[in-house]
Amino acid sequence: RRQRQMCIRDSVMSAAVSLNQVVKRYGDATALHELNLEIQEGEFLSLLGPSGCGKTTTLRLIAGFIQPNEGTILLGNEDVTQVAPQHREIGMVFQDYALFPHMTVAENIGFGLKERNYPTIQINKRVGDLLDLIKLSDVGDRYPAEVSGGQQQRIAVARAVAYPPKVLLMDEPLGALDLKLRETMQVELRRIQQELKITTVYVTHDQTEAMSMSDRIVVMNTGRIEQIGGAEDIYNEPKTRFVADFVGQINLLDAEIIGVQGDSLQAKTLGIDIRVPRNNVSESGLVSIAVRPEHLEFVDPGTKNEGLNIISGRLSGRTFAGNLTRVYIDVGKEKAIVVESRPEDAPKEMGSQVNVGWKVSNTKVLLE
Ligand code: ATP
Repeated sequence: RRQRQMCIRDSVMSAAVSLNQVVKRYGDATALHELNLEIQEGEFLSLLGPSGCGKTTTLRLIAGFIQPNEGTILLGNEDVTQVAPQHREIGMVFQDYALFPHMTVAENIGFGLKERNYPTIQINKRVGDLLDLIKLSDVGDRYPAEVSGGQQQRIAVARAVAYPPKVLLMDEPLGALDLKLRETMQVELRRIQQELKITTVYVTHDQTEAMSMSDRIVVMNTGRIEQIGGAEDIYNEPKTRFVADFVGQINLLDAEIIGVQGDSLQAKTLGIDIRVPRNNVSESGLVSIAVRPEHLEFVDPGTKNEGLNIISGRLSGRTFAGNLTRVYIDVGKEKAIVVESRPEDAPKEMGSQVNVGWKVSNTKVLLE
């Protein structure tokens, strides 16, 4: 009984996918530097980062298409570092769908089961269930060329999960679709993933996509993990300048911490004194401070408010974005900050002097 309990505990504790100290080099160039990552059972995890940061390399390593130079990869408790892709029980979905053009939609979905010699009756049942799941039960007899791009992508997902894989890997699966369809498909893919409760690793360079779909996001930069966390965590509490800048729009200013004042720190930026929160940051030296455009507001000249940092500048541009207006303000040599405000609150006159304020508590202090 004790042994059984230990087994249960082990299975609860082990991640669905673990990458331990994984290094991948291409010739002299290192694409991944000692990567450590654990993906939990049933989790939807996105790898997010700019082109060349190592997202696809990470995915291909999990799939087994390439081998690491160092480190190990585990699926559950099994070390699969040396296991061939076809023996890893992985489902893959790519940007270009890669459906078989000469097979019907139903045959495409049932392909993996047929390869594994499943009885026809079982294949038909599973294909029928999956067609229901992807809400395409009426197109089973059509060929891929006879359905839309969004439908093809749902079919590709159904095919990838037909023989239930341990992990579903998706590499920019919505990259070929237009914006509107992409948004619909984000909701659809997330629904399908949750219904199947399938562990999923999703590669994207689109932060909105990662934020709207994922349980956790891994932000990558030049072969390293910058930060891992839920969407709100990454957006509200970026740990590095890179994450702050890459995820959402943000104003970044160089600042110097010059003293302590109660529970905040005094800092200097653009020649003015400001206050920043005192959150585990060194109490002297150079830092970056970051403020989201939605946290800036226009204030009247002469406003005195202990909780606000106030800076003045010259209005240099305005863009209208429907529900909000972005206002650009020159606050120093070649330095502009952007404020998002309600259209009716945004000053209009180009070149006019304006004051903007933001709460001390909304100031993020970042190390490089
Ligand atoms: P993208 O969003 O552009 O697909 P990515 O984040 O997926 O980028 P990777 O494809 O993982 O990035 O590439 C990481 C680094 O490894 C890049 O510098 C890339 O040029 C390099 N690289 C990838 N594949 C190879 C290869 N087969 N040979 C040599 N270098 C490679």
